[in-house]
Amino acid sequence: MSQEPDTLGLMGLTRPSSLSPSSISTFTSCPLSFRFAYIDRLPQPPSPWTVKGTLVHRALELLHNRPPSDRDLGAALADLATAGAELAGEPEMALLGLSAEEEAAFSADAEALVRRYFELEDPSTVRAIGLELKLRARLHDEPGAPELRGVIDRLELDAAGELVITDYKTGSVPREHNEQSRLTGVRLYALLCERVFGRRPARVQLLYLSEPVAIIATPSEQSVRGSARKATALWSAVERACDRDDFRPHPSRLCDFCAFRAYCPAFGGDPAAAEELRRAVAPAGPAPGAEPRPYALPEPSGAARPALPVAGA
Ligand code: SF4
Repeated sequence: MSQEPDTLGLMGLTRPSSLSPSSISTFTSCPLSFRFAYIDRLPQPPSPWTVKGTLVHRALELLHNRPPSDRDLGAALADLATAGAELAGEPEMALLGLSAEEEAAFSADAEALVRRYFELEDPSTVRAIGLELKLRARLHDEPGAPELRGVIDRLELDAAGELVITDYKTGSVPREHNEQSRLTGVRLYALLCERVFGRRPARVQLLYLSEPVAIIATPSEQSVRGSARKATALWSAVERACDRDDFRPHPSRLCDFCAFRAYCPAFGGDPAAAEELRRAVAPAGPAPGAEPRPYALPEPSGAARPALPVAGA
């Protein structure tokens, strides 16, 4: 199912082979950041909030791998400890360089997020049929359609047997003007689910553990089709930007969290320095378009539409 990178003429850049809700959001907010992350594949140093997100996601994955009757707070905290032990051996944790005091605060924050999760739902009632589900599908059936891919934290069946997608969020709840972009991602997950399994989910829920707050969306035929059209238009914009090697910076509040400020002309940086770094990391790096996050997506299977996972996970 994968599309080979399309190397263009002398001036063009190698196009990414796929899009994801994250990469779409990145291109929409800053095309230059998209280029650095998804085309140049520049390494991004881990941050405490992204590593904490990885830790909490893993703990909740372990929790939902347990039999429903075992999923209580004590089990969740034990799973958090297991996830912490797994992460302790990973380079991303070492790269944070936390002091003992900072590490204690990091662990306390992660525990608070897990505790607040229990204020949002009773995990013993959840019928998960897929955890950390890596999905990929063509955006549409026309020739040249890019691949859309994403990782669904949890796919489940509700009491009526309808599909529900759950996405855990460890950051802050979006303000009203950012909520639309969150919902765009939600609809893309719904589209991905529909393309892969042939069924649109009845609900997509974003569980913000920091408050805690749940944002629940009901994807409609119209909203999902609209998102597919927008993603197709965005893909055309990515292709044009690659053809012209024209990815412009778009400064915003997100610059405070951007790993590429040193190379960004909006902050006096030189993109040519990024080019040197790209050449240094390119031989070992994944193909353009691959996600910069630490989840490894599987190689394309080329298989026909898979059956829904069997309930009972
Ligand atoms: S610093 Fe801001 S403008 Fe520059 S690449 Fe990053 S997000 Fe874009």
